[in-house]
Amino acid sequence: MTSRLPFRLEARATGSAARAGTFRTLHNEVLTPLFMPVGTQATVKAQLPQTLENSGSQILLANTYHLLLRPGLDVFRSMGGIHRFMSWNRSVLTDSGGYQIFSLPHSRSITEEGAVFQSYTDGRSILLSPEASIGAQRAIGGDIMMALDQCVASTADEAVARAALELTHRWAARSLAARGDSPQAMFGIVQGALFPELRRESALGLAGMDFDGFAIGGLAVGEGRSEREDTCAFTAALLPADKPRYLMGVGTPLDILEAVHRGVDMFDCIIPTQVAQRGGVFTSRGYLQLRRGVYKFSGEALDPACDCPTCRRYSRAYLHHLTKTRETLGWQLLGKHNIHFYHQLLREIRASIFSDTFLALYQEKRAAPHEDDIDNPVLVQTPKKQKRLALGNYEIHTAWEGFSSIRHIRSGEIMHSRTPPMEEAQRLYVEQSRLPERLRDTGAGPLVIWDVGLGAGANAMAAIAAFEKEAAPTRELHIVSFENDLDSLRLAFRNNDQFRYLRHSGPSAILNEGAWQSKSHPGLAWTLVPGNFPETLHGAPLPPDLIFYDMFSGKTNAEAWTLGTFRRLFAVCQGRRVELFTYTCSTASRVAMIAAGFHVARGRGTGDKTETTIALTPEAVRDTRDLLAADWLAKWRRSTARFPADLPAAEHSSWEEAILRHRQFQHLGDG
Ligand SMILES: [Zn+2]
Repeated sequence: MTSRLPFRLEARATGSAARAGTFRTLHNEVLTPLFMPVGTQATVKAQLPQTLENSGSQILLANTYHLLLRPGLDVFRSMGGIHRFMSWNRSVLTDSGGYQIFSLPHSRSITEEGAVFQSYTDGRSILLSPEASIGAQRAIGGDIMMALDQCVASTADEAVARAALELTHRWAARSLAARGDSPQAMFGIVQGALFPELRRESALGLAGMDFDGFAIGGLAVGEGRSEREDTCAFTAALLPADKPRYLMGVGTPLDILEAVHRGVDMFDCIIPTQVAQRGGVFTSRGYLQLRRGVYKFSGEALDPACDCPTCRRYSRAYLHHLTKTRETLGWQLLGKHNIHFYHQLLREIRASIFSDTFLALYQEKRAAPHEDDIDNPVLVQTPKKQKRLALGNYEIHTAWEGFSSIRHIRSGEIMHSRTPPMEEAQRLYVEQSRLPERLRDTGAGPLVIWDVGLGAGANAMAAIAAFEKEAAPTRELHIVSFENDLDSLRLAFRNNDQFRYLRHSGPSAILNEGAWQSKSHPGLAWTLVPGNFPETLHGAPLPPDLIFYDMFSGKTNAEAWTLGTFRRLFAVCQGRRVELFTYTCSTASRVAMIAAGFHVARGRGTGDKTETTIALTPEAVRDTRDLLAADWLAKWRRSTARFPADLPAAEHSSWEEAILRHRQFQHLGDG
């Protein structure tokens, strides 16, 4: 049988999973990687099909859920399909409708048969089964159809994620059967939330079916950025190399760049037209908000590096005016530019894969501005008098990337040197501990975080922000911060134009009173335990569930990383399910944690570190953690840091045996 979507992989990048290829649909040849503008209602909002053709759109996405309600399938049948209906002669991809049903706020139920939902046009109940979805997609007549899947929140627990995956696989088989002899191509959708084993099972299961390509589903629905990137990379690598891979609903130009780097070929997103409606544009000079007054008299082109029709003809002043007056033309012109910008980005990416310069392009684009207009930055009030940039043992350090951190003057050590403090706090501590999900855990008591090494408060504030972001957290959150020198927080707080996350009622209460209780969230409290951590930990008000261990490194604060300190810490955790997260991956620190009784796993990388560390009490060990195993033991045996610094020399001889006897490594010896 000839393939419905012949795909040719043409080039791969060195040092990256990025790839370029070509496939053929019923309407045109499609060059990958590519971006597909979203035409929810058989129109890309405010754009003419001709404009889309000129800017290089190869495939448009249309939403089955909306189109089957209005205009209804009979219209497509009578018009001979969506291409003729909307006068579009290139390809169309239709989604299955599953995602819209997942995101509907009300009236849906999911059974083996399918999903039942209520029409928003006339209130009738509609069953969207795999057969109904494919029937609708056949009538709409897109070049690529999507199998019906059950999408769950990416933060779903394992049982829920597994059930959704199994249903998705049964629906995948029914979707394929429902295609019959239609020449339309069909993609399967990999599910599995953030569980690597489930993602593997889903990818391998679907790869064995007769799909023409694969989508990575269930992302961009609640997880953090780095979790999405990790899952995307992991899943893409499991999919067949000779079929296209599609990351649904993603994203910003930066998100797309990151996903191409991880081996994805196809993207769709409403962002370019949606932000255009609100006056937003992506440019080579950063993200511009045209409503800002700085553009009122600007005769410049929107983006000096862009040759789209908007940039060739209109000034920022005119586009600012159209945006301020909410004229439809403003939306149309900005949308035209944004779509062109996305297509141009993907054309550049594709060319760089062929010339094998993708990695350099990736690094350059990643470092480019993605937030503010760099020529007209959003100014913060300049302080009249010079602020003090040093206090006690600390000074403010500004990285060349532009963000500020606190430096310990004597050692030169910088807290969060390579990544902005809040970003690192989010990535290492909030996301890895799955804090938002834990806050939603019903039937559990208050969640206690020990924030060991308050520093400039980034980790505590990231946890507070996670709590405040929850619509209805079901658990209380108590943060207990340990710090023996408040000067770092005080210094950052006095300069909170550079440490904006400290613009909050919490830090001043901690500095002045040593405690804070949120007024808007009765379940949110923060307490300071002043003094030296190893000595104060026994007197802490509450035992921990999570520990964010962010002390200066051993060369600045040796005591923080000793066997003695971890033994004391393990003693207060004993019998509890406790997880500790820390930025270090040093062998000496890990060995001290293991010897103290913790199980130790690899944490995700950050900044210039390829991995970090998670320590678990035996009660907290789960197989989703990447526990250190034989490869680490081999490395440890070769290490010069085999023994914790404070281990008495007399104990050295029994040390190796003690490590090998640790429960974490026992099964290795058996095998
Ligand atoms: Zn432009």
